[in-house]
Parts: sequence; structure tokens; C-alpha cells
Amino acid sequence: MFVKLIDSMGTDLSVVNAARVSFGKRKEEFTEGDKFLIKYLAEHGHWSPFAHCSAQFHIKAPVFVARQLVKHQVGLSWNEISRRYVDTDVEFYEVDKWRGRAKDKKQGSDEENIIEWVNRSQRTGALKNAVENIALKNYNMMLEAGVAPEQARMILPQSMMTEWYWSGTLYAFARVCNLRCASDAQYETRIVANLINKECSKLFPISWTELRNT
Ligand SMILES: Cc1cc2nc3c(=O)[nH]c(=O)nc-3n(C[C@H](O)[C@H](O)[C@H](O)COP(=O)(O)OP(=O)(O)OC[C@H]3O[C@@H](n4cnc5c(N)ncnc54)[C@H](O)[C@@H]3O)c2cc1C
Repeated sequence: MFVKLIDSMGTDLSVVNAARVSFGKRKEEFTEGDKFLIKYLAEHGHWSPFAHCSAQFHIKAPVFVARQLVKHQVGLSWNEISRRYVDTDVEFYEVDKWRGRAKDKKQGSDEENIIEWVNRSQRTGALKNAVENIALKNYNMMLEAGVAPEQARMILPQSMMTEWYWSGTLYAFARVCNLRCASDAQYETRIVANLINKECSKLFPISWTELRNT
């Protein structure tokens, strides 16, 4: 899995100036007092000044993670590799630890409860074989037999890696991270959200801190 920052636009000063234009004002430098303005904007849901800053990421993660993240739509744009066109370089996500089912909720897992016999199978390669020797082998056999990639892909598992470009506003990514860095988000999805969080906190340190507190 990776999250690479490709591009970005704006700084904390862009947020401040977008807000100050209401009063016909503009600043060339960010000063201490601007922190209070940003805090006020974040606390009172004045989202539009934060939408003048943006970031673009190239992300690689398994399909089951992408499937969750693509639900975030407003203020974001997503373009993903298509297995209708690309039928090579199929990779799968490798799990470190197999977690047990959560006792107190329908979704989620118990990070303290590691299922040892499954982990042993993982270590001996038994589970990897299941993915690579059954799913991938049959996929390649179907392609060799002439089946169209758009149909052959149906037998590839959710652990297959996918990649996409994800662009969005500072405000939109803060909403993503508020939901997906939280402890009730799936662990593997949290890995991606935490990497986005790290990049955005460097790009827009003051705004990010305030938006992540809301
Ligand atoms: C822990 C967790 C578990 C989840 N489980 C499931 C699940 O089991 N099944 C499932 O389908 N999804 C699930 N989701 C996804 C969830 O329902 C949202 O679709 C997702 O979190 C995106 O939320 P968002 O606020 O970023 O949405 P966006 O679509 O980006 O919207 C941003 C904001 O715009 C507003 N908005 C957007 N669309 C509308 C609208 N039509 N009407 C009014 N206001 C709107 C809302 O205020 C929204 O917060 C889960 C999310 C989390 C974090």
C-alpha cells in the first residue's frame, strides 16, 4: 500500500485570504492572529475558505479498502486503473495478522484477538497459494483461452491491489480523515487515511489541526 502526494494547491494563508475577502482585505503573510480566524471558521462550519486549498494523491491499496474510500464523494475526484484494459501485473494484499470477529458490534474486528491457526497458515504460504494458485492461475488460463479481461476479472478476489488518483479539497480530505482515521474504521483503511493525514498536516498545519478537531 502507498499514498504519494502528487500535487497540492494553497496554504493556511490561502484559507485566511479567502475568508478575509468578505471584508475586502488581503494579507501577504500568515500571522499568529490568523490561527484564531481559522479556528473560528472550522468550529462554525464555514467550509468554503478551506475548499480553496487542495491536494492530489496517487494511492495503491486493496480493492476492499478502495471500495470503502470511494464512498466519500463531495469535494473529491477519483480516477482508477481499469481491469477492463489492464490484464497484467495483478498483485494481492498480504495480511500481517488475521483478527478475530468483534464481539460487540456487527462490523469490525477485535485487534486483541489474533486467530493463530490462520496466521500459521499464512506463514506457511497456504493462504497465499489459495489466492495465487486458484484465483490468479484461473484468471490467466481464462485470458489465454481468449476471455475478455472485463469478464475474466470476475474471479479475482477483493484482496487484489488497485490504484487511483484522488484529488480533493482540504475540507473534503479532513472529512475523510475524521471518519477513516477513527478507531471504528477498518484497520487497513485506517492505514491509507493515516498517510493522507500525515501529508495534509504538513501542507496545511493550522487548518488541518482545527478541521481534525471538529
Ligand atoms: C466506520 C464506517 C462504516 C461505514 N459503513 C458503511 C456500510 O456498512 N455501508 C455503506 O453503504 N456505507 C458505509 N459507510 C459509508 C458512509 O455511509 C458514507 O457514505 C461515507 O462515510 C462517506 O461520508 P461523507 O460524509 O464523506 O460523504 P460524502 O458523500 O462525501 O458527502 C459529504 C457530506 O455532504 C452531505 N451529503 C452528501 N450527500 C448528501 C445527500 N444526498 N443529501 C444530503 N446531504 C448529503 C453530507 O453532510 C455528507 O457528510 C461507512 C463509513 C464509515 C466511516
